[in-house]
Amino acid sequence: ADQIRIGIAGHGNLGRGVEAAISKNPDMKLVGIYTRRAPETISPLQTGTPVFSMADLAGHTDQIDVLILCGGSKDDLPKQGPELAALFNTVDSFDTHARIPEYFAAVDAPALVNRKTALISVGWDPGLFSINRAMGEALLPDGATYTFWGDGLSQGHSDAVRRVPGVADGVQYTRPVQQAVEQVRSASRPVLTTREKHRRECFIVLQEGADAEAVRTAIVTMPHYFDEYDTTVNFITADELRRDHQAMPHGGFVIRSGNTSAANAQVVEYSLKLDSNPEFTSSVLVAYARATHRLQQMGQYGAKTVFDVAPGLLSPKSAAELRAELL
Ligand code: NAP
Repeated sequence: ADQIRIGIAGHGNLGRGVEAAISKNPDMKLVGIYTRRAPETISPLQTGTPVFSMADLAGHTDQIDVLILCGGSKDDLPKQGPELAALFNTVDSFDTHARIPEYFAAVDAPALVNRKTALISVGWDPGLFSINRAMGEALLPDGATYTFWGDGLSQGHSDAVRRVPGVADGVQYTRPVQQAVEQVRSASRPVLTTREKHRRECFIVLQEGADAEAVRTAIVTMPHYFDEYDTTVNFITADELRRDHQAMPHGGFVIRSGNTSAANAQVVEYSLKLDSNPEFTSSVLVAYARATHRLQQMGQYGAKTVFDVAPGLLSPKSAAELRAELL
């Protein structure tokens, strides 16, 4: 069968992850990387992969089956998502949870008019975790759902500590509180505060002459980001940061605990332990690009989310193969 032709829009961590993921999916081929920067400044993983300017996309509509949008959720996707969904079938990882309804509407309108399929907010959260929350509620209506994140590097919180005066560089890890996780797994359905569920740990390189105590106070009292958590601040050297904190591990679990009768509790858990958050997220995007191509062929246009995609559409196997081998 013909390979699915994939384009990558934006070459950061996710863009590089998509390149890696496509090389593991023989039914797909990468036709090009598109960037807002000068194309000659981009180094693709595989030499020979063409790199184009984002401005060239409009002329390439008949060369790409699915365009995977790898821009940032804060500033890139709100603009790129609606624009590109008018021209291509798209998949993106928009992850600002509170703004998903508004983003969905902004992408849905141009996609519908142009008979394109635009799958939004794919990845692990939102994405695979969302599916598991929905399944948990549907299967165990008398129950409670818990999402824990970590151990993992949080990009947003790392950006926030780097903006604190006196900080030269730094990273932030989110860690689930083990005691809370055990309580949830015991099916006791605890009511947990923000502080009881997660703690935060920062590794900070100070600027020359900065006051460590002042930096620590500024971090642990930062509204929204840290004030509701127990936060540990460690001071390290720039060499230690380079040596020990370059990876982007993450993960977490979604747990639904509920009762099917007074006597019987049921606990369902979905868990991820990731060496590289962006590489895993990109692998999810690529599997959902296959589904997006199939939804397009089935005439399902407009914006979609993971809730709209049947699991079989993710697999390179046919429905008959899936019934015979995996059911
Ligand atoms: P990133 O590395 O910052 O890349 C974002 C964009 O910035 C790229 O598309 C690229 O666009 C530009 N860029 C990258 N490196 C650059 C550089 N050195 N100089 C200038 N511009 C550069 O972000 P990311 O780690 O790939 O993450 C993208 C988004 O994925 C995040 O905002 C997050 O919301 C989302 N995400 C979602 C999930 C999920 O589970 N749903 C998980 C992880 C991440 P150009 O090539 O056009 O310049």
